[in-house]
Amino acid sequence: MTATTGGPSLPQERRVVTAIPGPKSQELQARRSAAVAAGVGSVLPVFTTRAGGGVVEDVDGNSLIDFGSGIAVTSVGNSAEAVVRRASAQLAAFTHSCFMVTPYEGYVEVCEKLAELTPGDHAKKSALFNSGAEAVENAVKIARAYTRRQAVVVFDHGYHGRTNLTMALTAKNMPYKHSFGPFAPEVYRVPVAYPYRWLTGPERCAEEASAQAIDMIGKQIGAENVAAIVIEPLLGEGGFIEPAKGFLPRIAEFAKANGIVFVADEIQSGFCRTGQWFACEDEGIVPDLITTAKGIAGGLPLSAVTGRAEIMDAAHSGGLGGTYGGNPVACAAALGAIETMRELDLNAKARHIEEVMKPRLLELREKYEVIGDVRGRGAMLAIELVRPGSKEPAPDTTAALAKACHSEGLLVLTTGTYGNVMRFLPPLVIGEELLNEGLDILEGALAGL
Ligand SMILES: *Cc1c(COP(=O)(O)O)cnc(C)c1O
Repeated sequence: MTATTGGPSLPQERRVVTAIPGPKSQELQARRSAAVAAGVGSVLPVFTTRAGGGVVEDVDGNSLIDFGSGIAVTSVGNSAEAVVRRASAQLAAFTHSCFMVTPYEGYVEVCEKLAELTPGDHAKKSALFNSGAEAVENAVKIARAYTRRQAVVVFDHGYHGRTNLTMALTAKNMPYKHSFGPFAPEVYRVPVAYPYRWLTGPERCAEEASAQAIDMIGKQIGAENVAAIVIEPLLGEGGFIEPAKGFLPRIAEFAKANGIVFVADEIQSGFCRTGQWFACEDEGIVPDLITTAKGIAGGLPLSAVTGRAEIMDAAHSGGLGGTYGGNPVACAAALGAIETMRELDLNAKARHIEEVMKPRLLELREKYEVIGDVRGRGAMLAIELVRPGSKEPAPDTTAALAKACHSEGLLVLTTGTYGNVMRFLPPLVIGEELLNEGLDILEGALAGL
């Protein structure tokens, strides 16, 4: 590969040679402001030229340590070899035929792989789409067609996308929903077991939260009217909340007992991110349907709904699809990404990232009172920031901490209902030195708050 190639050949080093963002990025930002709608934001307006392994390079020659993976997408690294090889070959062969016009093998092969990799050994089928939101919308369509019921149950702090139905499913007003209503009907929200913020404490959280959720479903909707319960097994945008152990199995059992389709939204947590193929495996959950996207195709747009064959087949022929859904280049990329996950054992890599990062984050919590909680699994980890001596969320501190990290060349993302969670989503192929250097920067930034 030449020196101008990104991917694994990019020098794996942090390099800060200008202010962040630098002068060339600032020039581009001025052009962007004139041409791009203001509603589309960016975490850090440095303009990317190359990326790979654990770094992102910008137009000013800075090289940032990547703790974001483009929001949990480039788990196999940017421009991973197998992704580039397979997608390039497909690009040269044909770019599109529309699976609904003339089909192609890559689409079928991705569906076969999804059947193999997702939990449960029952007969499974899949349908492919472009974005995560589209997958969630289609999971709801399928669940409604199967059950002939309408209501959908979602949870506090849940995030499922930005289209009209998925905005309704998403909990947080700002920035996702504000001024964009009215929202789709027949969506009901119930409590989730958020151990750090459960009023009676983490020990009783799973039992009380599941009892409350189930009681609300029965009293306010009627279980017999519920088509689907949709939940992220590890909540992403809501703040990397791990539902207290026992909560998910209780909700899944309730769904099963009442003929409700249990949908695991693993768009952020799936594909090796938490050290398992899917986060719900940690509690032995076998979802009826599972939605995937983000990490599935090494950066190309692809999403899927996978689940029990009899549920997936409930929608009439022609009822599911879309012009670009399961694009052949994206399918080729997904096959390359899955090949990489298997060959490099990225589940083991994710678990190793946790082993390196979590003890250091826990040490930081002992040292810095602003860190109220450390949580997450694998390479999906977070710290929740609070006012010292309380649990009051500290969004300003979180923003200041992110800014300090950015200026030192560490790309971090914030999240959470209260805007007070800093999340860490490094590519699973990141080197250990970069990982530790990133944590050093974080510690320096905490010390300088
Ligand atoms: C990102 C995300 C979505 C939406 O995916 P898009 O590709 O942005 O539409 C849905 N659910 C979860 C859990 C996500 O993290």
